[in-house]
Amino acid sequence: MRTFKKVLTAATAAAALGGAVVATASPAMAAGRNGVCDPGEFCLYFNSNQGGSVSDFTGSVADYGAKQPSCYDFKGPGNGKGVCVKNNAASVWNRSGQTVRVYFNSRYGGHSQDFGSGARGNLDSTLKNENASHQFLGSNPPSSKTNMSYALYQTGGGRITCGFDGYTSTPGRHEGIDIARGIGSNVHALVSGQVINVVWGHTGSGGLSTIAVYNSSLGKTIIYLHSAPSGSLRIGQSISRGQVIAVESYRGISSSGGAHTHVEMRPGRTTLAAKSVSDWHLDNPNPTSFWISQGYNVR
Ligand SMILES: [Zn+2]
Repeated sequence: MRTFKKVLTAATAAAALGGAVVATASPAMAAGRNGVCDPGEFCLYFNSNQGGSVSDFTGSVADYGAKQPSCYDFKGPGNGKGVCVKNNAASVWNRSGQTVRVYFNSRYGGHSQDFGSGARGNLDSTLKNENASHQFLGSNPPSSKTNMSYALYQTGGGRITCGFDGYTSTPGRHEGIDIARGIGSNVHALVSGQVINVVWGHTGSGGLSTIAVYNSSLGKTIIYLHSAPSGSLRIGQSISRGQVIAVESYRGISSSGGAHTHVEMRPGRTTLAAKSVSDWHLDNPNPTSFWISQGYNVR
C-alpha cells in the first residue's frame, strides 16, 4: 500500500488546509489533548508497550493530518514528542468505555484492529507505523462481522437478491445492494447518521420510497429504497445504528412478489439514489470495502 499511501498523503494535506479534521464524542471525564492518558481517553504511543510520547483522544478521528503544524501529534514527554501520529504509532491504551478500532487508511478504511475497553496492546505488524485513523465503536460492538442481510432485519431469513452492479436481466448498472426478507419485516439502519430525505411513496411501480441517512464523519450517505418509511421519520432526525427506520414493502416495484430493500452507499451528502435501471453509467464506487469497514460482511 506504499503507492496508495502517497496519494492519500496529498489528499490529507489538502484536507488539513481546509480544516477538515473530524473529531466526535467527548466523555466528560477526559481532560482533552494534554499529553496524559486520562480515564475516558483512547491513547496512541510512539513506542511499543505504551512507551515514548503519548497522544490522547476523546473521540474518533477520521484524518489525523500528515504535517505540522496542523496534524494530530504526540504530546507527552519522551520519544516522538511533536511527531504527527499518522503512520507513527506503535501501541495503544484504551481507557475509554468503548471498543476502539484502528485503521490502516484515513476515513476508517482498510485493515483494522480492535481494542476493547481497558485494553493495552501493540499495533499488529500491518498497522505499526502505518496507522491512519481510529473510530470509537460504542460499548457493545458486534464481536465479529455481521452479515448485512442479518443486520438489516436484526433477525435471520434475509438474503441478498442482487449485488452491486449485479443486474443480469434488468438493463443498466445496479447502484446498490438488494436485500429481501419479506413484506412487513422491520428494516434497521445499518449506519448511524442524520435523515436528510424521506419520501413515503406508495406500493406499485410508480411509487418509489426513499430514506437518505447522511453520516458526516464518514462522509457518506446511505439510501434505502422500496421499503415503507416509519411514520415518525423526519428530516434532521438523528438515527442510530440498528434503529428501525422502515418496514419492507414494494414501493416503486410493480408487484408484491418483488419486495426488497435496496441499500445504497453514496459518497458525500446526497438526498437521492443514483439511477440504476436503463442507465449505463455507474455513479457509485464499489461499496464492499465500506461495508467491511462498518463491521459487515456483504452477504
Ligand atoms: Zn436495487
